[in-house]
Amino acid sequence: MERACETIPGGVNSPVRAYASVGGTPRFIRQASGCQVTDVDGRSYVDLVCSWGPALLGHAHPGVVAAVQEAAALGLSFGAPTGAEVELAERICARVPAAEHVRLVSTGTEATMTAVRIARGATGRDKIVKFAGCYHGHSDALLAAAGSGVATQGLPGSAGVTAAAAADTVVLPYNDFEALRELFDQAGGQIAAVITEAAPANMGVVTPAEGFNAEICRLTAEHGALMILDEVLTGFRVGPSGWWGFEAGTEVPRWTPDLITFGKVVGGGMPLAAVAGRKEVMDLLAPIGPVYQAGTLSGNPLATAAGIATLDLAKPEVYDRVDARSAELQKLVADALTEAGVPHVIQTAGNLFSVFFREELVVNYADAQDQDVAAYGRFFHAMLDGGVALPPSAFEAWFLSAAHDDAAMETIAAALKPAAKAALPNGKDIR
Ligand SMILES: *Cc1c(COP(=O)(O)O)cnc(C)c1O
Repeated sequence: MERACETIPGGVNSPVRAYASVGGTPRFIRQASGCQVTDVDGRSYVDLVCSWGPALLGHAHPGVVAAVQEAAALGLSFGAPTGAEVELAERICARVPAAEHVRLVSTGTEATMTAVRIARGATGRDKIVKFAGCYHGHSDALLAAAGSGVATQGLPGSAGVTAAAAADTVVLPYNDFEALRELFDQAGGQIAAVITEAAPANMGVVTPAEGFNAEICRLTAEHGALMILDEVLTGFRVGPSGWWGFEAGTEVPRWTPDLITFGKVVGGGMPLAAVAGRKEVMDLLAPIGPVYQAGTLSGNPLATAAGIATLDLAKPEVYDRVDARSAELQKLVADALTEAGVPHVIQTAGNLFSVFFREELVVNYADAQDQDVAAYGRFFHAMLDGGVALPPSAFEAWFLSAAHDDAAMETIAAALKPAAKAALPNGKDIR
């Protein structure tokens, strides 16, 4: 870590990897396989980060690795269209009918940034509405009150975002129907889009209130604005057609977003993401429309191969398995914390869940910030000592994969006993 800090700001290439909120030194990883990661000192951990979501099938799934190796042998990047891009787009559209046309990009940040630009191009309006605690990547327009990394570092937003960019972003409390209706009553005609995490997981998991997503959809449609459903984290992870399929249903959807963004699982661990949505809206993109967007490595052949292999392997049984492991793990955690007398609440959104060290349910960002972050740090390090790598932040979901087996669950169960004690208000700090 010291050597890393000599050349890399803070020693990490993404802030959430630093142990800023839990203290101590990040583990440098050498390799990963199935449900385990192994650090450069040769210590293995049961991994509950799963690359922050992508590793739905487990790390280094042989089918995905083989697909990438095959693609690599044929050339790393062409700067020209490929058949594989079409195949991946077809798979995305088939699983998520809200996605009629798809543009592949390299990161979730690019996907949401592009969605915002399309919405502004489509409506001729400037204002974007987001919810406090929702994270949509690090583009200027979307960094305000952005949860996750920003919350972990204790920052209100980011330096370097212009006042003009910030002024065009309206931030509302999550799950607040009244605030949303009031805003549209007053300024509906200026709003290009409302962007929301399909089910927020970047302030810890906050379950959308019954009808909240549908209300966003109704209000945006009524006022000529667009709804951007950010499924970078939930897409192809909480179910075969993401949160939208899970909540709205894909046969006769109860509500449908105009634009939808994917990342993480869709790239199977490689840098790939996508913006998708209604044909007429997506076709505003260059080269056929006036909204410019481009990428030298967009639809990269290796990333595309990993995405296709991952989606093809992510059959219903995979989701059944992750769902079952998630329920099992939630019970293990609840039992351990209850037995030790640690105040906590476990919140879920499909197979996603997170643990808050507080007693009351968390419905928005203000609630999420009102938790015992220090207790999480002690708990985190006790788990690490017991061979389990949790996300190094109290503001994150815990991620499981189809490769988490009984042995992994036993390791977790054993680690939980001392970790629960460490989470007590007077718990021992071992970092
Ligand atoms: C991770 C994430 C992003 C950003 O994706 P990157 O690939 O890290 O740029 C955007 N939105 C949500 C909901 C995310 O979880």
